[in-house]
Amino acid sequence: MGKNTLKIYNLAASITSTMNEITVLDREFSVYITENEIQSRITALAEKINEDLAGKDVLFFGILNGAFLFAADLFRQITLHSQISFIKLASYEGTSSSGKIKELIGWNEDITGKTVIVLEDIVDTGSTLERIIGELTLRKAVEVRICTLLFKPEAYTKDIPIDYIGFEIPNNFVVGYGLDYDGYGRNLKAIYKLTK
Ligand code: 5GP
Repeated sequence: MGKNTLKIYNLAASITSTMNEITVLDREFSVYITENEIQSRITALAEKINEDLAGKDVLFFGILNGAFLFAADLFRQITLHSQISFIKLASYEGTSSSGKIKELIGWNEDITGKTVIVLEDIVDTGSTLERIIGELTLRKAVEVRICTLLFKPEAYTKDIPIDYIGFEIPNNFVVGYGLDYDGYGRNLKAIYKLTK
């Protein structure tokens, strides 16, 4: 192990890191957005949300698993009269012709007449978002806003406007700060992108 090498986890499914390069399972990644950059951007997003929604009673919905760190760090800086809850999209093989069906689990709140902010880790094609927005509309939220830490404009195929974006990124696979590669890497403090 070299001088600059930090062994984070020492099992077969390992994450090893040098200053800027990490290996998660069988893939190599390089640092892309630092911990400081993430945290300052979250502060700016929280300030904007606090300003835009001043005086409203707001319900935040974090989308599991990826958004759990983002939701926690952002929500800590929210000064509105607000609540937070988490929902998860679970895939299972359905019997319809489309095959895979995604079911939303974790809905306990009555959202009728509420202002809702959806907190996403990353919006890629937008399919997840579309599914969630459909559900929120059915359940009669009065106002729905979307806040995502990362957004891949090149991959986005939907028309749903995204109100708050942390970082726009190219169509590369990223890991860290809640985002995983095959279940690993979520505990990394920075965001890393796949290197060839
Ligand atoms: P979408 O439905 O917008 O196509 O994809 C959203 C989901 O795909 C995200 O919540 C995330 O789980 C996964 N995803 C999309 N791009 C990436 C990426 O670059 N890295 C990781 N770790 N997950 C991604």
